[in-house]
Amino acid sequence: MERTLSIIKPDGVARGLIGTVVKRFEENQIRIIAMKMLRMTKQQAQAFYAVHRERPFYDSLTDFMSSGPIVVMVLEGEKVIEKNRTLMGATDYRKAAEGTIRREFATDIEKNIVHGSDAPETAAFEIGFFFSRFEILNG
Ligand code: UDP
Ligand code: MG
Repeated sequence: MERTLSIIKPDGVARGLIGTVVKRFEENQIRIIAMKMLRMTKQQAQAFYAVHRERPFYDSLTDFMSSGPIVVMVLEGEKVIEKNRTLMGATDYRKAAEGTIRREFATDIEKNIVHGSDAPETAAFEIGFFFSRFEILNG
């Protein structure tokens, strides 16, 4: 059993796609074991995406991620890290597979609706970034 962090980014929330994203998880036997809505500060977004601090898109990305409310979720299931990444689609929506969330809804390489952890180590860091164990079912 694995866990991963999912974020519905500010563009996804603003465009009314919370239900759509949650439905994808529910339809694909992915269990949501924690969920909340919040708005990150610029500093929090910088800390969350610290791994990308040297990248040219870091400043714009952290402005975007702190620009409005987001929904953060902990997902649980077998191979859920990879399963969630598959449902999301490639970072660049133009390269994302047909039927994926990003292919259907993203408008921009940055504004791509969802975030998903990419490995067990990053999932552990990202879940701990937003949730205490008391906020996670059976945590
Ligand atoms: N991003 C961007 N320009 C790029 C690459 C990434 O604006 O050239 C943004 C995009 O929002 C992406 C996030 O930075 O989702 C994190 O990048 P990463 O490569 O980790 O992609 P992800 O894991 O989200 O698919
Ligand atoms: Mg990533």
